[in-house]
Amino acid sequence: MVYKAEYIWVDGTQPTSKLRSKTKIIEDGKELPIWGFDGSSTNQATGDKSDCVLKPVASYPDPIRGGDDVLVMCEVMLVDGKPHPTNTRHLAAKTEKKYKKHEPLFGIEQEFTLMKNGRPYGFPPAGYPEPQGGYYCGVGEDEIHGRPLVEDHLEACLAAGLSISGINAEVMPGQWEFQVGPLGLLDVADQLWVARWLLYRIGEDYGIAATLDAKPAKGDWNGAGAHTNFSTKEMREDGGYKYIEAGCKALGEKAALHIANYGTGIEDRLTGAHETQRHDQFSYGVSDRGASIRIPWQVAVDRKGYLEDRRPNANIDPYVVARLMVETICGAMK
Ligand code: ADP
Ligand code: MN
Ligand code: MN
Ligand code: MN
Repeated sequence: MVYKAEYIWVDGTQPTSKLRSKTKIIEDGKELPIWGFDGSSTNQATGDKSDCVLKPVASYPDPIRGGDDVLVMCEVMLVDGKPHPTNTRHLAAKTEKKYKKHEPLFGIEQEFTLMKNGRPYGFPPAGYPEPQGGYYCGVGEDEIHGRPLVEDHLEACLAAGLSISGINAEVMPGQWEFQVGPLGLLDVADQLWVARWLLYRIGEDYGIAATLDAKPAKGDWNGAGAHTNFSTKEMREDGGYKYIEAGCKALGEKAALHIANYGTGIEDRLTGAHETQRHDQFSYGVSDRGASIRIPWQVAVDRKGYLEDRRPNANIDPYVVARLMVETICGAMK
């Protein structure tokens, strides 16, 4: 007998990489082997040296095919065994190892926008829907668009064993969010990429696409972010608040580096309006959704917990963002 393995990888598309996948039939009992693909079709190689290598790094039960079939997250390697230049995971792996003793945890809030006929799902064919106000966490067919798809996606993620902590309808019609975590650096990023893959794949069956575009509707509409909640062991323990404040300050010292790596089109999203701080300013505060970093109200009461970096775009590479947060915050710890 055989089973199907869907090998998933991150390609080399600029400025925002895309997901790719293909299916390998494997004999029962056999391990997941390394595999190859044509990098000249994914912006990862030239035609004359087109072979790239897929190295399986994490696998999950495939909730769509079922049975023994699996989804396999892969790193892209060169034929000489070195990491491909587009492989951002291998640097994240080094960082995870280096700062292991701080036990960093992440919860990433992935916002996305469902799209139909090139418009946000729920927008009329011409013109605009009612202004924002009633859609966030709304209910009712006049305000909510795409719930069957979103529910199917949630079920699929849970069946795949992904650590989803919740979902909600967002501020703009057709806009939704799911949260992955809390998990360590590599797990949160691997699982976020697989959850994205499932979203696109299930969308095919509904004739609805999902975009991670950070500003899918111009004008007075919220953008789409990937708020990244972060804690270390020290922050989670009694008296952890001073480590949370130190983390905020460390992020402020390296604000420009982070903004440069927080996703394509970040200037269009971080305008200072629509629950954001400006991309060229840095601030942190308790409960402040207009700050770069928010310390949740409950965290200020408990004097321990986590911080929320509100700057990352929906279209981030989580391997890059999670790595930078650990390097900046843990790197500044004594
Ligand atoms: P918001 O109020 O900003 O919408 P959400 O409930 O959507 O917040 O997301 C909060 C995220 O923070 C969740 O993914 C949750 O798992 C995560 N989280 C909770 N505690 C921690 C922690 N100690 N460290 C890191 N992430 C955490
Ligand atoms: Mn949220
Ligand atoms: Mn949100
Ligand atoms: Mn948030």
